[in-house]
Amino acid sequence: MPSAIPSRRFSNNGAGVAVDGMSSFAFAFDIDGVLLRSSTLIPGASEALKYLHDNNIPFILLTNGGGKHESTRVVELSKKLGVPLTEENFVQSHTPFKQLVEGDESESLKDKTILVTGGDGNKCRNIAEMYGFKNVVTPGDILVSYPSIWPFNQSFSEHYINNARPLPRSVDYENPSTSLKIDAVFVFNSPRDWALDSQIILDLLLSKDGVLGTYSQKNGDSSLPNNGWLQDCQPKLFFSNPDLFWATNHHLPRIGQGGFQASLQGVWDATTGGATLDKTIIGKPHAATYKYAERVLNKHRTQLLGGEGEHKKVIRLNRVFMVGDNPESDIRGANEFKSSHGAEWSSILVKTGVYREGTKPAYEPTVIVDDVMEAVKWGLQEEGCM
Ligand SMILES: [Mg+2]
Repeated sequence: MPSAIPSRRFSNNGAGVAVDGMSSFAFAFDIDGVLLRSSTLIPGASEALKYLHDNNIPFILLTNGGGKHESTRVVELSKKLGVPLTEENFVQSHTPFKQLVEGDESESLKDKTILVTGGDGNKCRNIAEMYGFKNVVTPGDILVSYPSIWPFNQSFSEHYINNARPLPRSVDYENPSTSLKIDAVFVFNSPRDWALDSQIILDLLLSKDGVLGTYSQKNGDSSLPNNGWLQDCQPKLFFSNPDLFWATNHHLPRIGQGGFQASLQGVWDATTGGATLDKTIIGKPHAATYKYAERVLNKHRTQLLGGEGEHKKVIRLNRVFMVGDNPESDIRGANEFKSSHGAEWSSILVKTGVYREGTKPAYEPTVIVDDVMEAVKWGLQEEGCM
């Protein structure tokens, strides 16, 4: 059983406190292998988070998991960890997609038609709609309306018929101006039907203007940049969770969402002879996720202070401790992230998950400690708070 943090309360006059009276540092915790192992609580996890909560030290849970809306997972985790969590301190792999509904009409995808792939049934479609996307289409919707798009559709037909919705516009590639047009493609979670998803995403990447069933005449034109590939207003492609493998109850790691990304890249390379595939990848270790996490932490810190009052000077965090078990994602991402807001990220590797004691981590953390409780203590000591 890990030893507890001394009961002395976090001092308002002590080190690690900004001039607004609030902690100038924060923590970001991975979930699997840090707080939980196969849904079992890791000793000390609850106490460590409770200490931070009771002392108003900002923290977030930063996971590459997904497939459920944040509100659902927050309820589950609050109960399991015994610490109140809100959507304000919880970031999943696909959470930063929320930002794409913001902004003015020219940059927001809110009213555009997007294709969402992955996850069980309609769960990821529902998440996207809860984020604010208004027109969400799934590969199943397309297959049910347009069965010839994938010849081997019989095995899953019942599943698709049960979950499909009518398309906002029919697929009519002979009349592209009235046909279904997809503006962006999102891989939200691990696809359940790689073949159908691969086919439809590839179709869109080869299309003219994202109109299904069309084929860009620019493809392969060597007089154009990228040999003409992706030069005809094709939809933007977004991936979340780049983990190639993940731990399940099987004794060996299983192919993760990153495996689908690698597979699609392989099909793209073979189709185009190695043209560049423009894509946005979010999730640890990518910088976009750490940037989003820092934004969320600063916002959370402001909320803990009681909001951004007229006369309150809001101070930004100057240090974030990333606590993770996976050197390739948690640690690598924190080490490589260069914050534009000025927070310094330090990486703390724990021994309760993927990392095996005695091995050399692929990405060297700032420090290696036994578990999450030791990680929090180390951070507090670094900030002169213990
Ligand atoms: Mg982990």
